[in-house]
Amino acid sequence: MLDNQLGKETKARYYSPMKYSVPQPVTETLDTLAKADFEAYIVGGCVRDILLARTPKDWDITTSAKPDEILALFEGSFYENEFGTVGVKVPRFLPTTPSEKEHDVIEVTTYRTESAYSDNRRPDAVAFVSTIEEDLARRDFTMNAIAAKPTSHESRVTSHEENTPEVDLELIDPFDGQRDIAAKVIRAVGDADVRFGEDALRMMRAIRLFSELSENTRHETRDTRHENTDWKIEEKTLEAIRKHAPDIAHVSWERIRDEFSRIVCSGHPADGVDLLQKTGLLKVIIPELEEGVGVGQNLHHIYTVWEHNLLALRTCPSKKLSVRLAALLHDVGKPRTKHGEGLHSTFYNHDHVGARMVRPLLRRLRFPTDIIEKTTLLVDNHLFYYNVGEVSEASVRRLIRRVGLENMHDLMDVRIADRLGSGVPKAKPYKLRHLEYMIDKVSKDPVSVKMLGIHGQDLMEALGMQPGPKIGAILDVLLAEVIEDPAKNAKETLLARARELEREDLASLRKQAKETIGEKQEEDDRDIKKRHWVE
Ligand code: ATP
Ligand code: MG
Repeated sequence: MLDNQLGKETKARYYSPMKYSVPQPVTETLDTLAKADFEAYIVGGCVRDILLARTPKDWDITTSAKPDEILALFEGSFYENEFGTVGVKVPRFLPTTPSEKEHDVIEVTTYRTESAYSDNRRPDAVAFVSTIEEDLARRDFTMNAIAAKPTSHESRVTSHEENTPEVDLELIDPFDGQRDIAAKVIRAVGDADVRFGEDALRMMRAIRLFSELSENTRHETRDTRHENTDWKIEEKTLEAIRKHAPDIAHVSWERIRDEFSRIVCSGHPADGVDLLQKTGLLKVIIPELEEGVGVGQNLHHIYTVWEHNLLALRTCPSKKLSVRLAALLHDVGKPRTKHGEGLHSTFYNHDHVGARMVRPLLRRLRFPTDIIEKTTLLVDNHLFYYNVGEVSEASVRRLIRRVGLENMHDLMDVRIADRLGSGVPKAKPYKLRHLEYMIDKVSKDPVSVKMLGIHGQDLMEALGMQPGPKIGAILDVLLAEVIEDPAKNAKETLLARARELEREDLASLRKQAKETIGEKQEEDDRDIKKRHWVE
């Protein structure tokens, strides 16, 4: 409507009716480019986010300046990648930047287009283009294909937040991204079929944006079946994702992992993963999870294995990646361990079988070792048995020894997700609160050789023992006994017992350590089975 008044040549140019906060380092970078007679706009996710009143993660600029021209304008700037994107160093301004870092980087990219994607994932070549409209046309979704720039210096008023001037924006929006943002629609730029054919990662990005942008988080409702009714992927776009889903196999695991992690950590992780399944992407990325689709459980469950895994993710109280992954994957072993059908089917050992599936699965997705090990540990131990009054302090110590005190809180979160995801209304029943109390109570008790009242050195000095495996074996027996009864962890008591043990040979010591822990472990496992005989 303002086009005529402003005498702009393209219909897609607007002046925003309101003011937006654009950080000073961003406006200054735009100014420097403009003063050198180049066109320059903020573009992509940051424009989308400010139109949505969200805080952008990072700010990208697109310009008519060529990479060398950008490099010449900004001191300390550098090439970001092989496509000629230039990183411009600016004083830190992003809220997420750690305080020890001196700079933030604004990515400045020359107007470009991408040509011929022979492998569904990387353009064979990028070509510079001369207009902003051509640059916007190569972008993935209409909401990400809006460019903007502050109109003039005069319109800037510094907001209460220092260094964040409020500005009027001139918007360039040839694909009606603003309309789609208002309607909460994710729509491919141009022909969706062609666009996903060019770059298969865009399918993951669509679902990631769907999961991240949706706002009515599940915490607003206790209904675990609550579904996202907020953002939508437009029908043709969705159809094209279904069609091109198998092409995701051509994308590198690292890039898939990054988008998948963001889905899992988003406000709507289960809706995102559900959509991965419905579009056919999950079958390629994590076929192990797909095995649970339609697999019925037993009289303790109203949901299929797949539905339950999704609901556990939906209700997971933790925001940590490893805990969310464990919530999603905790029952991944069930389809392979199922015996029998109907109300009395069993899933013995699904926890350990699941853990053995999770490690290679996460390796394939190139997750870092700490995430792989933590998630595997949580899946392996998610069935820990706990009943008030029935379980001894020693068995809580054994659980802590196996899982690590530092992981107990996360394990509890997986259990809460498991319960809520079964349709059990109370997140943290008395039982779990009591376990927390028990963990606290025994948390100072010795559960590792390090925490014993004597060390190898003491054995060598007091008993005159030589360094060797026998020392370790004696300490293991002592630990096994101390876990049963922490009162035995006094130096004199331990030394007296060590003297007795020293007379035994290595093999018998090892056997004892194993048996003491092992027998008790078996008891714990029997308890698990008692409770879970049909699970
Ligand atoms: P966020 O910053 O929240 O991750 P984003 O949309 O900004 O979201 P970036 O990866 O920062 O994502 O990409 C910046 C912009 O680059 C996008 O908004 C989009 O315009 C364009 N873009 C990114 N990846 C692609 C792609 N695979 N195909 C086409 N355009 C893309
Ligand atoms: Mg971005």
